[in-house]
Amino acid sequence: CRIAVLPYCRIAKEDSMPIISTKNLTKTYGSLEVLRDVSLCIQAGDSVAIKGPSGSGKSTLLHILGTLDSPTSGSIQVADQDPAGLDDEALSKFRNERIGFVFQDAHLLPQFSVLENTLLPVRAFRGVHQADQEHATQLLERVGLSERASHLPSQLSGGERQRAAIARSLMMKPSVLLCDEPTGSLDTKTAEQILALLVEAGISDDRALVMITHSETVASQMQRRLVLREGQCFEA
Ligand code: ADP
Ligand code: MG
Repeated sequence: CRIAVLPYCRIAKEDSMPIISTKNLTKTYGSLEVLRDVSLCIQAGDSVAIKGPSGSGKSTLLHILGTLDSPTSGSIQVADQDPAGLDDEALSKFRNERIGFVFQDAHLLPQFSVLENTLLPVRAFRGVHQADQEHATQLLERVGLSERASHLPSQLSGGERQRAAIARSLMMKPSVLLCDEPTGSLDTKTAEQILALLVEAGISDDRALVMITHSETVASQMQRRLVLREGQCFEA
């Protein structure tokens, strides 16, 4: 049942900044229309669950929100930038600085330690300073991996690898944390711990958390729940 058509912009909370806004986004692959007329506004302090059946376009939408992919038509602004106006290098830098990602798989580089993986977003664009080392160490402490900083990804459990991915996603102090089924390959208990961590790290006054999830429990912890159905996005 369709509950409500998503308004273009919710009533702004006081002092709240739109971090991502989209207008009439569509995404098509040939004759396949994956997203249709998606207009939404995500503000600092928001936590948003995205639900929908498999193949409904959740990952496609998240990739567009994260500037990893571009829409077929419609517009998007992320942190006051139109990604379409940036060349590849500028877009990579912008994404690196403003957007954190956590996917179902941690995508850690196997030859690097947990600490080095956490520092990768810095190393991608400049040298690592003492302050970065300290920040990475603090993040590893926050995700409960202090004792594992020098270990390789292959020495960690699935849950620990996700903790490292979370630390890495927070390294650049992103404006938005985008998560695509981050606990999809974890057992229930580990999933709960990882989610608690994401909720704690992702929900803050100057950040937005957007999480694709099939879990009602997770969705219920978010301020907003969006549902994708037949390419359209509804606020549930
Ligand atoms: P979800 O994450 O909700 O499971 P996706 O966003 O991954 O769904 O995919 C939505 C639809 O778009 C699916 O039918 C999928 O097959 C299709 N799709 C995704 N990426 C591509 C692509 N690069 N080329 C063609 N079809 C694609
Ligand atoms: Mg998906």
